[in-house]
Amino acid sequence: MIAQKIQPTDAIVVGSGPVGSYAAEHLAKKGVIVTVFEEHPTIGLPSHCAGHISIRSLRNMGLYPLPKGIVENTFCVANFHSPLGAKFSLKLSCPVTTALNRARFDQYLSEKAQLAGASYVMNSPVQSLLIKEGRVKGVTIEKEGAQDKIYSKIVLDAEGVSSRLLRQTGLKALKPSGLVYAVEAEVEGVQDVELDAVEVYFGKSYAPGFYGWLIPRPDGSAKVGLATNHGDPRTYLKLLMSKHPVASKQLSKAKITQIGYHTITLGGPINRSYADGFLAVGDCASQVKPTTGGGVIFGLTCAKEAAEVASQAIAQGDVSSNFLKTYQKRCGDLLNFDFLVMLRLRRFLNSLSDEKLDEVLRVCGKLGVDKALRDVNEIDFQGKLLLTAMRKPAMVAALSYFGLLYLSANP
Ligand SMILES: Cc1cc2nc3c(=O)[nH]c(=O)nc-3n(C[C@H](O)[C@H](O)[C@H](O)COP(=O)(O)OP(=O)(O)OC[C@H]3O[C@@H](n4cnc5c(N)ncnc54)[C@H](O)[C@@H]3O)c2cc1C
Repeated sequence: MIAQKIQPTDAIVVGSGPVGSYAAEHLAKKGVIVTVFEEHPTIGLPSHCAGHISIRSLRNMGLYPLPKGIVENTFCVANFHSPLGAKFSLKLSCPVTTALNRARFDQYLSEKAQLAGASYVMNSPVQSLLIKEGRVKGVTIEKEGAQDKIYSKIVLDAEGVSSRLLRQTGLKALKPSGLVYAVEAEVEGVQDVELDAVEVYFGKSYAPGFYGWLIPRPDGSAKVGLATNHGDPRTYLKLLMSKHPVASKQLSKAKITQIGYHTITLGGPINRSYADGFLAVGDCASQVKPTTGGGVIFGLTCAKEAAEVASQAIAQGDVSSNFLKTYQKRCGDLLNFDFLVMLRLRRFLNSLSDEKLDEVLRVCGKLGVDKALRDVNEIDFQGKLLLTAMRKPAMVAALSYFGLLYLSANP
């Protein structure tokens, strides 16, 4: 059901990405009248995501198992490659992650939101926020060439990484130093890959400031991509496919059938994600893991909090920033420790030369980090994961070695 006539609404959600739809579903379930505005004609398209997500986190959110046609593959192995040829394999005891068809996943979340009562208005870019006396009162949309003002008690901004609307409220947008620029390709004809393994290619020569990835499907196709903090990601992708000691072999016969570009935010959550009548959620609030760039689970986690706080604010007739600041606190209580650890891990990884990366992967293998992590079934909350893993002597040894390496590189 796509609403054509725009009904009076309590809450407006900008953007029908996973985060916008999950927030809309939870608002509607609380009895809030909610309308989602999406600039594109079809939910989930164009897709800009590898859709590699933790099964346990999806399960914890009641989103796994998923309906047929969304899951493309599941994985229990991650192969990490240095640019100089070292390989460290992490083999876990059960499927831990899944690769989703992101467009279908987004469509599924929007169907759930609509079933709960949310209305969707497609092809309708939100052009600006309506702000009166410092308070967000609604949005201006463009529909069929005409502009329309839609009023609401609260606006939830889930516009993604562009963060254009957020800036109108005076909130600080994403830190440019935390952004990396990604390219992702659909390829056919990969070879020499294990179907239950994702490949991760580290190194400044191929993906400075991030890494490259290959996520295979059983039919021989794969999602291949990388992100960089400088330079043109297309140039690096060509280099990865033609020169990388492992990727070039796996992709020597591969044909790119589709390619897309997008930004990933790795700088950790913005300091303030609320204003009078306004909450920012998902990528636009940088609720994304600084290590992997994965934003779906953290975005959904915060979307649920946003919906909870927004529905209470509406019920109590107080959408002031003073009331809405609980949203920031609730998200912080859930995620700040993990963000802190992941920001440091990202800084550590970025500080390593290709030679040191090679050494790190070899040392991980020698110390038995793979065995210490074998029972891991949670990859999102990496701060808590590290705390648990530190009960194993191999992890203590590895972390001590990483610490010394970091200190020697950054005296
Ligand atoms: C190459 C790449 C690979 C990735 N791989 C993974 C991965 O494997 N796992 C993972 O967890 N995360 C991954 N991510 C991150 C993930 O894609 C994001 O964290 C996630 O999509 C955030 O969801 P969102 O709803 O906040 O934003 P988005 O998914 O970006 O959705 C925003 C929506 O808002 C709409 N919109 C924007 N502006 C307006 C407007 N003014 N008016 C109306 N509509 C508007 C957009 O059209 C879009 O539909 C990847 C990102 C990239 C770039």
